[in-house]
Amino acid sequence: DVTHGRILYLEDVNVSFDGFKAINNLSLDIAPGELRCIIGPNGAGKTTMMDIITGKTRPDSGTVYFGSTIDLLRYKESEIAQLGIGRKFQKPTVFEQLSVFENLELALKTDKGVKASMFFKLDSAQRDRLADILHTIHLADSVGRLAGNLSHGQKQWLEIGMLLMQDPKLLLLDEPVAGMTDEETERTAELFLSLKGKHSLMVVEHDMSFIRTISDIVTVLCDGSVLAQGTLDQVQADERVIEVYLGR
Ligand code: ADP
Repeated sequence: DVTHGRILYLEDVNVSFDGFKAINNLSLDIAPGELRCIIGPNGAGKTTMMDIITGKTRPDSGTVYFGSTIDLLRYKESEIAQLGIGRKFQKPTVFEQLSVFENLELALKTDKGVKASMFFKLDSAQRDRLADILHTIHLADSVGRLAGNLSHGQKQWLEIGMLLMQDPKLLLLDEPVAGMTDEETERTAELFLSLKGKHSLMVVEHDMSFIRTISDIVTVLCDGSVLAQGTLDQVQADERVIEVYLGR
C-alpha cells in the first residue's frame, strides 16, 4: 500500500502550462482527520494543486490517491465530488433567495439529481445531520432567514454547511476567512476545530493568526513544490520561507 493509510497522497506530480512548470515534482500527503494549512506566495501553485485533486486539471505525470485504493487520476471532476471530496472556493455561493434551511436541504437534493428533487424529503438521519450542522456552522438561530440577508461570514459558514450535508471525507477550502471580521474569523476557527478528526481538511490561507489557531502542520508551497513543512513556528523560522516571503 503506497499511501501508508493517508487520506490524500500526491507523489511527484507535474503540471506545465505552455512549457511553464506550475507544479514541479510535488509530493504531499494528509492523514485521516488532519487539518492541513497550505501557505505560499502568489503563483506558488496552491490553486493548481487543488484543481488537480478535484480533477479540474490533469497532471502531466505523477500519482494522486484518495485513500489507499482510489486513483483520482482515473476519475472525472464530477465523479470526484461524488467520491467524497468537497471544495469551497473563496467567494460564497449560496442561494440568496432561499432560507438557510432550504440551502442545506438543497445541498442533499442536488446530490440525488435535480429531477428527483421535487419529490425529495429528508429522512430522519438527514434531519438529524442538518440539525447538527446548523449548530456547527453557528446558524441554529437563523434557520428561516434568507441567505441573502446573512453577513459575509455567515454565508461562508452556510456554504461550508452545504458541503457538510454531503458528509465529505476530505474538504478543500480556499481562503475561508478572507473578508471576515475578527469575530467571524474566531468563530470560523471554532468551526474548523470542531470538524477536525471527523473530516480531513486542506485549507489555503494567508491569515497567520487563524492558521496558528487551527493547524497542526503547515505546508509551504513555492514554485510548484513543497518548500517547507512543520508547525507554523517551525516554518516561520525557516530561512528559505523568510526569503520567499520577504526577499522577492
Ligand atoms: P497560487 O494559487 O499559489 O497563487 P496558481 O496555482 O494559481 O498559484 O498558479 C501557479 C502558476 O501557474 C502561476 O504562475 C500561474 O500564472 C500559472 N497558471 C495557473 N493556471 C494557469 C493556466 N490555466 N494557464 C497558464 N498558466 C497558469
